[in-house]
Amino acid sequence: MDLTYTEEEQDFRARLRAWLAKVLPELPARPSPDDWPGRRAYDLGWQRRLYEAGYAGLHWPVDAGGRGATPTQHLIFLEETERAGAPYVGANFVGLLHAGPTIAAEGTAQQRARWLPPVLRGDEVWCQGFSEPDAGSDLASLRTRAVRDGDDYVISGSKIWTSHAEVADWCELLVRTDPGAPKHRGISWLALPMDAPGVSVRPLRTLAGSAEFAQVFLDEVRVPVANRVGAENDGWRVTMVTLSFERGTAFVGEVVACRRTLGELARTAKANGRWDDPVLRRRLGRLYGEFGALWRLTQWNVSEAERSAGGVPGIGGSVFKLAYSHARQELYDTAAEVLGARSLSLEEEWTLDRLSSLSYTIAAGTSQIQRNIVAERILGLPKGR
Ligand SMILES: Cc1cc2nc3c(=O)[nH]c(=O)nc-3n(C[C@H](O)[C@H](O)[C@H](O)COP(=O)(O)OP(=O)(O)OC[C@H]3O[C@@H](n4cnc5c(N)ncnc54)[C@H](O)[C@@H]3O)c2cc1C
Repeated sequence: MDLTYTEEEQDFRARLRAWLAKVLPELPARPSPDDWPGRRAYDLGWQRRLYEAGYAGLHWPVDAGGRGATPTQHLIFLEETERAGAPYVGANFVGLLHAGPTIAAEGTAQQRARWLPPVLRGDEVWCQGFSEPDAGSDLASLRTRAVRDGDDYVISGSKIWTSHAEVADWCELLVRTDPGAPKHRGISWLALPMDAPGVSVRPLRTLAGSAEFAQVFLDEVRVPVANRVGAENDGWRVTMVTLSFERGTAFVGEVVACRRTLGELARTAKANGRWDDPVLRRRLGRLYGEFGALWRLTQWNVSEAERSAGGVPGIGGSVFKLAYSHARQELYDTAAEVLGARSLSLEEEWTLDRLSSLSYTIAAGTSQIQRNIVAERILGLPKGR
């Protein structure tokens, strides 16, 4: 990737900035975190506007309905949307950032035609049914069973921590299709319609007060065999593709958002006198350096992903995920110091962000698991027991 901007890229940035300046003031107010149907409608509405303006799936391949933009254009898009304070992907997170890209890389032509356009148009929301009550970090020990019956699988089991399950139309679901095979070999990756008979969703309340994820129960749910992405029992390989998108590129827009927050923290500290504390200033300075380094790592990851076959990010995503989730926690711990007693109020946006930042070292694979991956698969250290 060339880190200087061509005239064409500068022009792309200017057009995007002008478009954002025009559309953002027209947006309705964002619904409260508890209003899930309202948030779904808001997030899909924003996706529709991106689609109509030609900015949906900017970095997706053209034959998957995307714009086939260069890595630099993709990063410019992230920088400009964050800088302008545009809505975050929200309910579209799974569809746009890892289920859609997995189907683009691994699905058949029919599967791509069925599932990708509604994600880009903002018509359908996806969720992720990977974790189970007894299979989180040790994902391959999942037990949800899918038994073949004619042209269908009949599925029974339960998934947990399923973000956005309440408002999702589809779920990227991992099921065990061969209970006799070694645990990594008997898994398949399916698209589950969330309105299928036998699917029930029980919301789970988080520390921050919202019920953003749920437990999903599957009671003899019939899903067509045609909804399987990849070969039967080859779902672990497809899952690695999904996880590399989730860890490698799905959070990149948030790095820019954190850098913006850092600037706001410095301004708030100057305004309320906290800036006089040299320890706090050093901490802000170090965070500035860390997020700068993370943005460079992001540029590298995006560039590598878009150079690879199918645009699949590599194992470097685990380095990013590990460093980013810790830097994010430190950012919001620092925000609490800047706010002082105000940081105890749930009315403060930064307080809610601080509470939710705790989950970043768990979601999409814990830090311990990322360290194991980095140790074994990047550094070549011996495998633990
Ligand atoms: C905000 C949030 C959103 C989420 N959204 C989704 C979603 O949409 N869909 C979904 O499927 N899942 C989702 N998850 C679940 C998430 O992927 C799991 O919580 C995560 O994989 C950890 O699994 P676990 O909770 O079962 O912890 P466990 O696996 O029980 O781990 C407990 C502790 O033991 C450590 N540990 C476990 N094994 C090892 C090992 N081999 N070496 C070293 N340490 C180890 C872990 O690091 C952790 O600290 C979400 C989680 C969060 C917090």
